[in-house]
Amino acid sequence: MQYNVAKLLEGPIGMSSSYNIEEIYTEASRFTDQVTGSVHMVRTHQGVLVYAVLDIQTTLTCGRCLGEFVWPSTLDIEEEFFPMVDLHTGCQSPPITDDEVDQRIDTDHVLDLTEILRQYAIADMPMKPLCTANCVGLCRVCGSNLNQGECNCSDTEVDPRRGALADLLKSQKG
Ligand SMILES: [Zn+2]
Ligand SMILES: [Zn+2]
Repeated sequence: MQYNVAKLLEGPIGMSSSYNIEEIYTEASRFTDQVTGSVHMVRTHQGVLVYAVLDIQTTLTCGRCLGEFVWPSTLDIEEEFFPMVDLHTGCQSPPITDDEVDQRIDTDHVLDLTEILRQYAIADMPMKPLCTANCVGLCRVCGSNLNQGECNCSDTEVDPRRGALADLLKSQKG
């Protein structure tokens, strides 16, 4: 998700350009599966202001049943990016602070949205993802996914410790 913004940086303050995004990620290190939406960039006094409204789809693992499910969400991004090199003078721009490190436009005038998008996507994800609000999770005895139907132990509610005690009593009696 990289954009060459040399033209924008050469232009006057207020100059803008827009892009459509439609990307599907398949690599193992992906933070989301799919991104679609639009990006709007405006030349500011110091750099480029990026507005983006992006629909993302991310595969998450349910905290109760451990099943995978698709989490759709919309990210509303607004971030200013700063060039490392002044396009007019060729001089190095003043050093930027640590929290602006992901909003750098590199020396080839490439603005990379990937890291910002990753941060917004992670901040948007639920702390405890659930496949559905009423997910019933896994059976504590046999581990079956109870969303897919009841297991054999679910109606008897066997506590494994009590089961062992019952066996012990039985063997003493026997
Ligand atoms: Zn679940
Ligand atoms: Zn069970």
